[in-house]
Amino acid sequence: MTSPFRVHVADLGQAGESRDVTISGPAGDWGIELSRVPDEAVLEGTFTITGVGNGVVVKGSASVPIHHTCYRCLESWDSTAVVDITEMFGDGTLEGVDYAIERDEIDLEPLLRDEVTLALPLQPSDDCDQLGGEGESDQNADSPRGESPFAVLKDLLEGDS
Ligand SMILES: [Zn+2]
Repeated sequence: MTSPFRVHVADLGQAGESRDVTISGPAGDWGIELSRVPDEAVLEGTFTITGVGNGVVVKGSASVPIHHTCYRCLESWDSTAVVDITEMFGDGTLEGVDYAIERDEIDLEPLLRDEVTLALPLQPSDDCDQLGGEGESDQNADSPRGESPFAVLKDLLEGDS
């Protein structure tokens, strides 16, 4: 089966020629620890592919559902990651191009996987630490450290005398 992420670009051999493509394909098993693309999720993307002589430039954006788990309280929720793409696929004659045209095709899957993964938070949080309750906010609400113990000690000493 042909991957929906592969796009034939032989018609874009001349610099300046461009074509719009729409992609819809499974983004299976993408993600990092606490933020992952759910099973069966589908990535949707719209791109303009432009020939630049020794390669093509892909420009556009893609969106994909993400299932997050809060690193702090393990609550989970869903959102959508949107990534903007501007990337060159070279014909092999250029140095420093990460992606290549292979057999007149470009494969957008590794690129999209990289970009989506980079867009995900390392420590997804549902802001539970901003809502009070347990956690750091309680400690931070105390008097500045170093002052409060002395104040307490002073009260004790004065109370005793
Ligand atoms: Zn949380």
